[in-house]
Amino acid sequence: MDYKKSAALSAAIILLFFSCNHITSSQYEFALGTVCSVSLFEYGNNTIYNNIFFKIREIENQMSVHIPFSDISRINAAAGIEPVTVNEDVFKVIERAKYFAEVSGGAFDPTVGPIVSLWGIGSENQRVPSQKEIEETLPLVNWRYLELDAETNSVFLKYPNMALDLGAIAKGYAADEASNIAKSAGVKRASIDLGGNVIIYGIKKDKSPWRVGIQNPGKDRGIILGIINVQDKTVVTSGIYERYFTENEIHYHHIFDPSNGYPAQNSLISVTVITDISMDADALSTAIFVLGFEKGSELLKDFPQAQAVFIFKDNSIITTPGVNFTITDKTYFLKN
Ligand code: FAD
Ligand code: MG
Repeated sequence: MDYKKSAALSAAIILLFFSCNHITSSQYEFALGTVCSVSLFEYGNNTIYNNIFFKIREIENQMSVHIPFSDISRINAAAGIEPVTVNEDVFKVIERAKYFAEVSGGAFDPTVGPIVSLWGIGSENQRVPSQKEIEETLPLVNWRYLELDAETNSVFLKYPNMALDLGAIAKGYAADEASNIAKSAGVKRASIDLGGNVIIYGIKKDKSPWRVGIQNPGKDRGIILGIINVQDKTVVTSGIYERYFTENEIHYHHIFDPSNGYPAQNSLISVTVITDISMDADALSTAIFVLGFEKGSELLKDFPQAQAVFIFKDNSIITTPGVNFTITDKTYFLKN
C-alpha cells in the first residue's frame, strides 16, 4: 500500500479551534495511516511529546495489519493453526472490539479483514470485487470465531484466512493512551487529534468550551459545516467521504457492512460520537454508521454517556439531546 498517499486520504476530518495565544506548542507526526497532532497546554515539554509519539508508534507496531510482525499480523498468520499470545494492551483492544461486535449485532466486526483486503479501498489495488468473490470471502468474517483467553492473553482465529483489522478502534485507543500520558505528566490542558479521533481536556483560560469543527463532506479538507462545543470529551467521526473510489458513478467507501460484504449503504454521510473514552467512541461511530440512523440510535441508548451528531446525504443533521452544536454552512439544516 502507498502509505503516504493513503495516509493523506485519511487525514483529520475534525479540526480544533483555539485561541493562538494559549498555545504553548503543537507537534505533528505521521502514524496510524494519518496525521497525528498533539497540543500540550499548561505545560508540555519535549519529553512528554516524545513519550506520546513513542506510544503511538508502539501501538502502530503492535496493531497494524501493514506491519508484518505486529501482534495482529502474527494472529492473522496463525489463523486456523494456533492461538497467539499478545501484549496485554493489544489483548485489551481486541477484547473491547469483540464486545462492540457483540453489542452491535456484528455491525462492528474486527474480523472484517478479508473483506477490507478484497476491496483494497485506499490502496493501489482498490476495485469492485465480483459477487462470487464476496460470497466466498464473507464466511470468514465472524467475530464469534475470534477466541480469546484472558489467562494467557492469547488470541485465536478459528479458521484459516480469517483476519483481524483494528482500523475502526485502534486510533481511539491510541488517543486514550496519548491523553493518559499527558495527564499523568501533569499537563493540565491538551488536545489530541489522531486523524479524526479527537480528545480535549482541561479548562481554557477564558473558561470557554473547546470548539471542534466537523468537516464539511462536500468541501475541501479544513472547510467545516458546524462546530461542537465540548469540555473534557472525545469526539470521533466515521465518514464516507475521505477513503473511497468511484466507479460507474457509484461511491464505494471503506466502512463495510459485515452482513453483505459491501460498503454500508444508508442515508448517512457521517456519524460523530461524543463521549469519555475514545476507543469506545471509535468503535461506536463505526458501528452506528453501519447500522444506520434508526438502529444506530437504538444502540446509542445503551451508552447513556454518549451523544451523537448524524449528518445525512440530504444535508440534514440530527443531534442527540444535549449536544451543543452550531451549523456554520447554511446549506445544512438541523432536523431535530
Ligand atoms: P473508522 O470508521 O473508524 O474505521 C474504518 C476502518 O475500519 C476501515 O478502513 C476498515 O479497516 C475497518 N472496518 C471497515 N468496516 C468495518 C466494520 N464493519 N467493523 C469493524 N471495522 C471495520 N492506513 C494506511 O493507509 N496505511 C497504513 O499503513 C495504516 N496503518 C494503520 C495502522 C493502525 C494501527 C491503524 C489503527 C490504522 C492504520 N491505517 C493505515 C488506517 C486504517 O487503514 C483505516 O483506514 C483507518 O483506521 C480508518 O479510520 P476512520 O476513522 O476513517 O474510520
Ligand atoms: Mg471507528
